[in-house]
Amino acid sequence: MIFEGLADRLQETFKKLRGHGKLTEADVNEAMREVRMALLEADVNFKVVKEFVAKVKERAIGQDVLETLTPAQVVIKIVNEELTALMGGTQSRIMIASKPPTVIMLVGLQGAGKTTSAGKLGLAMKKQGKRPLLVAADIYRPAAIKQLQVLGEQLNIPVFAMPEGTDVVTITEKAMEQANSHINDIVIIDTAGRLHINEELMQELKSIKQHVKPHEILLVVDAMTGQDAVNVAESFNADLGLDGVILTKLDGDARGGAALSVKAVTGCPIKFVGMGEKLEALEPFYPDRMASRILG
Ligand code: GDP
Repeated sequence: MIFEGLADRLQETFKKLRGHGKLTEADVNEAMREVRMALLEADVNFKVVKEFVAKVKERAIGQDVLETLTPAQVVIKIVNEELTALMGGTQSRIMIASKPPTVIMLVGLQGAGKTTSAGKLGLAMKKQGKRPLLVAADIYRPAAIKQLQVLGEQLNIPVFAMPEGTDVVTITEKAMEQANSHINDIVIIDTAGRLHINEELMQELKSIKQHVKPHEILLVVDAMTGQDAVNVAESFNADLGLDGVILTKLDGDARGGAALSVKAVTGCPIKFVGMGEKLEALEPFYPDRMASRILG
């Protein structure tokens, strides 16, 4: 379960704090030392942890918090608010174009869950009454095209694909023509992934971006890779410019470091999380609910 370790550690810390009744500055400092350790153990980026603890400490020690009747409660509330802020504050939705179709380009490394997420997102859109079109633009792996076609059949969502060897610009161009003629109002492009970020991949993604001018470029990253996921997000954002992140495999991530660091490090909000292999297992990301989950 996500945040398992972190939730246990923080709940323990706050139990101790509550037991104190009236708090001194030293009590708060001790609690913040434990919060810091807990966040680092959850694999949260160290700079993020440092700033977070400083902010909470400043708020907790200032503003006469220690003079209130329930100082521990107030400190917990501050931690809750700052955790929420760290993850972006409010829910970040995807932008729906005023003139359809809305074009969503999914990018990411191989194995992150891009193709699965394309299917999941298509299903979520369909459930909202939209008419999605999935586009297979992973031209290097015929298996990836097939995988998307199988998903499309399963979900009863059309998939646009072209023969192996067709260049991505032609594929996306033709896909847009089909979307326009079939009145698809959402186009989800599944791009090629690589094992590592390289120049060739970025050039290809940039050419798709330039050509189709997507409304949303979403990076799909694997939460279980922790700070690597954050580094990948930083790189893609610098090279391509991201509108948001889909954080997959959160169901298998007991630490939660990426979920807590991505927004703070890259400025890109997490828009969706993958919570399992099933196609229904895609959820909008709510920072406040995540924070409450950590604090129990
Ligand atoms: P791609 O190479 O980025 O297109 O990755 P795939 O979509 O093929 O996914 C790689 C593997 O991750 C597959 O076995 C998926 O079932 C699995 N996967 C994707 N998203 C999730 C998720 O949110 N949770 C879990 N547990 N598995 C996922």
